[in-house]
Amino acid sequence: MKTTIVIREAKKLIFLSFVLFFIFQNNTLVAQQKFKVVLDAGHGGKDPGNSGNGYSEKDISLKIVLAVGKLLENDGNIEVIYTRKDDTFLELYERSNIAQKSKADLFLSIHCDAFGKSSVHGAGTFVLGLHENDRNFDIAKKENKVILLEDDHKKNYGGFDPNSPESVIGLTLMQEEFLDQSLMLARLIQDNFVGDLKRNDRLVKQAGFLVLRNTFMPSVYVEAGFLTNKNEGAYLNSKKGQQEMAKAIFKAIKSYKKQLDKNVVIEIKTKPKPVKPKSRIVKEVDFKVQISSSSKKVKTASYNFKGLKGVERVRVGAHHKYYYGKTSDYNKVLELKKKAKAKGYISAFIVAFKYGRKVSVRDVLAGK
Ligand SMILES: [Zn+2]
Repeated sequence: MKTTIVIREAKKLIFLSFVLFFIFQNNTLVAQQKFKVVLDAGHGGKDPGNSGNGYSEKDISLKIVLAVGKLLENDGNIEVIYTRKDDTFLELYERSNIAQKSKADLFLSIHCDAFGKSSVHGAGTFVLGLHENDRNFDIAKKENKVILLEDDHKKNYGGFDPNSPESVIGLTLMQEEFLDQSLMLARLIQDNFVGDLKRNDRLVKQAGFLVLRNTFMPSVYVEAGFLTNKNEGAYLNSKKGQQEMAKAIFKAIKSYKKQLDKNVVIEIKTKPKPVKPKSRIVKEVDFKVQISSSSKKVKTASYNFKGLKGVERVRVGAHHKYYYGKTSDYNKVLELKKKAKAKGYISAFIVAFKYGRKVSVRDVLAGK
């Protein structure tokens, strides 16, 4: 009798420890999954940024950053890391170090622009990439020049010369892996600036911002507007303007996170049941998955494409398009697209070619 009680108790204990073990596991999982955002207010301390119309770029950037941070923190599920919360001078590499150490999911740097002609105005959003024109290079050059204020910039930036376009090219390789995600967030932010706030659209662009160099995570650079423009300067310097810009950025981060969450769910859902798809062959047609398009020529080795093998590069005008897979089976290409998305190419889509010429996917499926 006594032994059965002991056994029963022991069983209970084992069961309980299993339960505790799983609760613990789940908790650490949740803790690890907290989405982290690094907010970087441009300039600070001895580096004031631009002072168009007497406004202060470093102050305005900080105020917008703090407002974005507050909205994110109140949201609960997002952890915010600030590169600075007051008027401190930070070297550019320290900013990316903070991002790196925190293993964040996102890096966002906020600035205000200035231009010689006061009529120029509008908000723009940038991702790290080759400068597409002189103006983009000029903005990056201006923002990168701060390293000349730093004592050890030759050592810290591996001989980077802010005045040389060639120096910028080396930077962009680092961010290539996150280009799709960075572009997605940039797009969402810019859409809110233009759609919600009716800011003049300076578009999503690529430029060589040094602060994004060593952030191995999706990274976006916001130029909230031109302080040199009378109305825009006053708007950005006002509490209303700062709150509105912050809200637009906050909403974009939320949508971005939602998109990512969706992808994760899809990936997990499809795992347990690997159903072999029936084939749906369309004769004389090659389906491919377009995973990215870039002005930069990247070697098609799998290490450049998140492990995807057999990526093909095709030059179209000034851009290089990157295709994954090639099959005349539409169901197969759907699988390939799913795989590309799971790897992080969230905007991957299917394209079709007939006798080497690009044709509409819908048309070939309809037998046209
Ligand atoms: Zn700036």
